[in-house]
Formats: sequence, C-alpha cells, structure tokens
Amino acid sequence: MEKVRMTTPLVEMDGDEMTRVLWKQIKELLITPYVELKTEYYDLGLKHRDETDDQVTVDSARAALKYGVAVKCATITPNAQRVEEYGLKQMWKSPNGTIRAMLDGTVFRAPILVNGVRPTVRTWEKPITIARHAYGDVYRNSEIRIPGAGKAEILFTGEDGQEIRQTIFDFKGPGIVQGIHNLDSSISSFAHSCFQYALSVKQDLWFSTKDTISKTYDHRFKDIFAEIYEKDYRNAFEAAGITYFYTLIDDAVARVVRSRGGFIWAVKNYDGDVMSDMIATAFGSLAMMTSVLVSPTGQFEYEAAHGTVTRHYYRYLKGEETSTNPVATIFAWSGALRKRGELDGLKDLQAFADRLEKATLDTINSGVMTKDLALLHEDGVQGVNTLEFLNSIAARLAG
Ligand code: NAP
Ligand code: MG
Repeated sequence: MEKVRMTTPLVEMDGDEMTRVLWKQIKELLITPYVELKTEYYDLGLKHRDETDDQVTVDSARAALKYGVAVKCATITPNAQRVEEYGLKQMWKSPNGTIRAMLDGTVFRAPILVNGVRPTVRTWEKPITIARHAYGDVYRNSEIRIPGAGKAEILFTGEDGQEIRQTIFDFKGPGIVQGIHNLDSSISSFAHSCFQYALSVKQDLWFSTKDTISKTYDHRFKDIFAEIYEKDYRNAFEAAGITYFYTLIDDAVARVVRSRGGFIWAVKNYDGDVMSDMIATAFGSLAMMTSVLVSPTGQFEYEAAHGTVTRHYYRYLKGEETSTNPVATIFAWSGALRKRGELDGLKDLQAFADRLEKATLDTINSGVMTKDLALLHEDGVQGVNTLEFLNSIAARLAG
C-alpha cells in the first residue's frame, strides 16, 4: 500500500516521561506505517531544554509560527524537586507558557466521548469546548487590606498628565479593595483566536461575561468581540452555517447544562479557570481531554491536556507494565495531521486523520481500553495495558 504524502512539515515537539514513551509508540505503530511523515523535530524533553538553555522551546514556537501547525508532547514544568532530579542549570519556565506567549494564543480544551462512559450531565451528547482568556483580571490584581476608616480611590495618570479619578468606597472601618486590569490588545487576540477556531471546527461560538453588573470592564469584552465579529467574521460564519452568540455568564451556565453540547464556550480568565474543571470532570477523564493552542493569526498547536503521567513512568522505569491512556495524544497527532491536510489541500491526509480517530474510538467502543477508562465504564470492562491497547488500534487500522 502506498503511504500518504505530506508537503509541509509538521512542527513536532517531543516531551517527557510516560508521554515521551507513548509518543514514540504512537508514531511507530499508528502513523509511520501509513504516512510518509514529514516533521521538523524539536526535542523539548527537559534534559535537552536544559542543554540548550531553553532555546529549543523558543525555536519550536518560532517554527510553529512559520509553518502554522505543531503537535506537542506533554512536558515537565520544573519545580525545586525537578531541578534536583535532573541537575538543572535553573528552574526553566513552563514550555507551554513560553509557547503561548510567543503565539499570543488561546487554549481550547475539548473532551473525547466514547460509548459506555457517559457525561455526568445526561443531556450532553457532543463535546463542549472551553476557551479561556489567559491574561489579566484577578490573576494580575493588586489588592490592599484597608486598616480602618478612610477613602479608597482609583487613579489613572496618563503619560500626558491627564488624571482620571473615582471613589471606590468611603470606608468607615476595616475592609479590602482590589484593582484589576485588562488590555484591548489581549482581548482582541482572544476574540480573533475564538472566531478562527470556531471556523476551523465549524461549531457555534458562545461568549459570556457579566456586563450588566460590570458596565465598563466586562462591557469592553462584549464590545470588542462584537466589533471584531461584525468587521472580520460575520460573512465567514454565515457561509459556514455557524453562529456567534453572546449571553450573560449565569444565563450561559444554565444553557450549557441544558444543552446537547457541540459548541465552543469562550470565557474570561477566572470563569475559564472554574468552568473548565467543571466541564472536564463532568465529561469523565483528563486522559480523554484534548487541547489546542490557537493564535489570533490562525496557527495551531495540538496536545493532550494531561501531563507527563510521572507515576506511571516511574513504574515503567522499574520494568513494570502500565496502562497509560494514549487517546488524547493520538488525537493531538490526528488533529495536527488533519489541519496540515486542510491547509495543504491533501484529502488523503485528512482522511487518514479521520481513520486514525475512528480506529481509536472503535477499539474503545468494542470494549478494549486502558484501566482509567475501564474504571469509569458502565459495563465494568477489564482494562488492558498500553501496548495491548495500541496494538489493538493498529490491528483495526491495518484491517
Ligand atoms: P498528570 O501527568 O496529568 O497525571 C496526574 C494523574 O492523572 C496520573 O498520575 C494518573 O493517575 C492520571 N492520568 C493523567 N493522564 C493519564 C493518562 N493518559 N492515562 C492514565 N492516567 C492518566 O499530572 P501531574 O502528575 O500533576 O504532572 C506530571 C508532570 O506533567 C509534571 O511535571 C507537570 O509539570 C507536567 N504537566 C505538563 C502538562 C503539559 O505539558 N501540557 C500539563 C500538566 C502537567 P493515576 O496515577 O492515579 O493512574
Ligand atoms: Mg483551575
């Protein structure tokens, strides 16, 4: 059989621990037998990041900007214990943070649904994708504990000396105040990433804030989204048969719970922090959650939402067998290959991505899965180890 050809390389960002082991197995068993794989390889494994003074992370992000599609393995974010374990020169920053900053991107997280593992919310039939704004608000606040009676004010002093002043509160006794901010440029990038992603997956986009209460701050988010939609995306949305829908955050929560799923829900930073954990947990397992970073100019970086599964890796190093779920990492590959296929007009490559996902889902739906999923399954199935699971998918792909 002839292998599927590629024209532009994928940016391949290798990673750490158990997911690095899965990475190699996925490529060997599920991809290279069928695809003449073209990648520009960057080793983001912690050892190599340290050797290159983290330059490799920056280079890989530049490559993602250049080529437009990347696939990333989970990576260790060093802490004090890792500095010791790997003898690091310094506590390097999170690669995901570095890449997100360079792409100015937004992360979209979506669960993969399978038969037998039903969402806690009965009505959900399709995935709900959460998009969280990743700048400012309460995560970059300044706070004061007010010791006693006195006036708290907000003061803006422009570079030209202009002053804008407002009373926050006339305190009669002790209390607290908080100042938060955001930037038109950051909100605009967030909006562009959301509209771009909605078009790329052809799903409706919802956006919610609390603009009735926060008439200037949250209202600015609402206005920026509305302006960008009208100016740059309305026509494309109508042509794609999808809609942009704004509603209040509390109304959105009620609608999300009553919905059947199948849309993207964009939210401010704090709302996203809270709601993404709610959505992920209600859908089932972190090992079934995909993640894609989308830049405002339409570059895509695909990965699994989970980490490097350290506990399994230590068992693997001792020669013990593990049942680590590779599904989200497989879907990172299929997502990236499909997007590469779309951008390069390669129907075969897109079709292969579909086949790989179908073979994976069919395997699970036939009752073969790793232990984390088996534990959640309604019919009490027996879990298999990682390699048995991957071989089972490989057999379906070959058949
Ligand atoms: P983790 O790797 O996501 O694993 C936490 C636990 O969740 C595992 O011990 C395992 O539970 C379960 N789990 C996660 N993924 C699984 C899978 N594919 N199959 C089966 N079980 C799975 O999180 P962590 O242990 O907190 O972090 C480990 C390392 O990953 C850290 O160094 C962190 O910096 C890094 N990290 C990287 C990323 C990223 O690159 N995107 C994201 C998060 C964390 P059981 O042990 O109970 O089986
Ligand atoms: Mg959180």
